Amino acid sequence: MANAPERTRPSRHPLIDRLLPVIALAVSLGLSYGAYTLASYSWDQVVSYQSPYTTMSGADFSGVRPALTDPIPGAQPRRVVVVLIDGLRDDASRTMASISGLRARGADVRLTVPQPSLSYPTWTTIMSGAPQQISGVTTNWFEGPVKVETLLDVAAGSGRTVVVSGPKDLDEMFNASEVATASVTIEWPEGEYVSDTVVDNALALDAEVGGADFLFVLLPDVDNTGHDFGGASPEYDEVVRKIDTDLARLIEGLDDGATTFVVLPDHGHIDSGGHGGWEDPVIHTFAAFAGPGVKQTEARADLQDIAPTVAVLAGLQAPQQGVGTAIDAVLADGNGSARDAEFVRAAGVSLAYIRKVLGDDGVRGIDSIGSPADLAALRADADSERLAEERDARFALFAGVAFAALVAAVIIGIASWRALVAALVGTAAYAALYNGLFFGLHGFAWSLSTFNEETKIDAFFNGRMLETVIAGLAACVVAALVYTALRRQPRGPQSGYTAGWLALGSATVLMVQASLAVQVAYFLWQWGADVTWILPDMQAAFKYDLDLIQLTALGAAAVLGPLLTWLVGRLHPRTRRTAQAEV
Ligand SMILES: [Zn+2]
Repeated sequence: MANAPERTRPSRHPLIDRLLPVIALAVSLGLSYGAYTLASYSWDQVVSYQSPYTTMSGADFSGVRPALTDPIPGAQPRRVVVVLIDGLRDDASRTMASISGLRARGADVRLTVPQPSLSYPTWTTIMSGAPQQISGVTTNWFEGPVKVETLLDVAAGSGRTVVVSGPKDLDEMFNASEVATASVTIEWPEGEYVSDTVVDNALALDAEVGGADFLFVLLPDVDNTGHDFGGASPEYDEVVRKIDTDLARLIEGLDDGATTFVVLPDHGHIDSGGHGGWEDPVIHTFAAFAGPGVKQTEARADLQDIAPTVAVLAGLQAPQQGVGTAIDAVLADGNGSARDAEFVRAAGVSLAYIRKVLGDDGVRGIDSIGSPADLAALRADADSERLAEERDARFALFAGVAFAALVAAVIIGIASWRALVAALVGTAAYAALYNGLFFGLHGFAWSLSTFNEETKIDAFFNGRMLETVIAGLAACVVAALVYTALRRQPRGPQSGYTAGWLALGSATVLMVQASLAVQVAYFLWQWGADVTWILPDMQAAFKYDLDLIQLTALGAAAVLGPLLTWLVGRLHPRTRRTAQAEV
């Protein structure tokens, strides 16, 4: 034997040695199952979120809104055309002659889109002034009709003639055909250009009703092309050219000199195609306003400000539950008392919102509201106050999980400090490999835009689970190599250390899971598992879901990992040399 040999310490207690890997495996599988349950629960909480705000009105604060059939004093009832171009990016819009023409004689507004930036949620925000948290429309799985009032409702309710032309989804979401005076809604087929038909239909309907007071037109094709080829593709540019021609035809056909136009997208697209997340080209969009009542200007606003602005321009009451406010910079005048009526409504509904969030106490002490910015600030304060209270109450959960992770590490360290070091290095290797694949190889982000299409969601999650298992097994191999390197004369399973080598794999997977569990607990501390009054930050929620998916898939690594560490122990040249020396 070599000089200064390591003491061949016999097992502390054979039973404990055999129990440890079994216990670790049981904990791993328990975490895996728990994470799976929580992942489906949390996903469902966002998808089937029931907004508590849909019945909200400002009646208690600013009085009952006058009947829609009562004319607003001094307001001119203007003819307004709203054109929604699904998925049109801001940069592409700036290459379009039709939209540039509107901007040149009107208002160029830079918009920010609330999340999730999917079509049904953002259409609803445009139509109602209510973001996802208020409307309850969080995904395209929403089964309409929406529960909030829309521009179509207030225009038709005010006795205006309303024309709608667009895809069938407008019936499902907004009862468009029922509410409108005249409408044609068509199928939204894959790979077939339909915006020319939508424009033809809008022009024919307008002629049929002898000039509508309010027109809503939705052009769907840009979005399809964005999904299929990407927002920076030649195909996308090509369809934008076609839309430009059809939009110009629509504007020319409808413009009688007394028509106000509003053209905007619901969201943009990332370069590679997709939306739903927070990327700049997705959430930074535009609205072009032109015509009577519009100032020639540039401005910034939020998507929820569109409906109130359109209402003031049209001389209508704005939809009840909209928390957006009319964009003053865009308005050439208050349109009689329309803008004032709209601010009274917005103030009333904002106070109703604060009372929903904080209870009656929340609205006590609010004495002066001067501007739309005040309303947004008051609502944000209410959100922060309730979140702070809830986070205080949830902190113990986070602290508990962090403590449990620490206890697991200490137990492994007491059994063998070398095993703990090896498991921690393995955990670092896991994080490097999994995230390297996710961000580096695939170029993914923590964003709903990553899916591109709903049909690709399952494949996306399955791919991440597979990579989790691969990274988890790689972590076990790394841990086994580190462990061998830490011993001068490492002993393999053939020298009676079978339980130890198996336990090393279990300990490594457990440490990887512990690191993820702490991150999951952090999200739960910040946002909770239930979605009842506020939507979580979507980037954090996406990461949380992926953390849970990893925790789930690591159950497989917990079963296979110990076999790998055992194999390394068995085959490593240094353990074999030790074994030969012993013979
Ligand atoms: Zn889309």
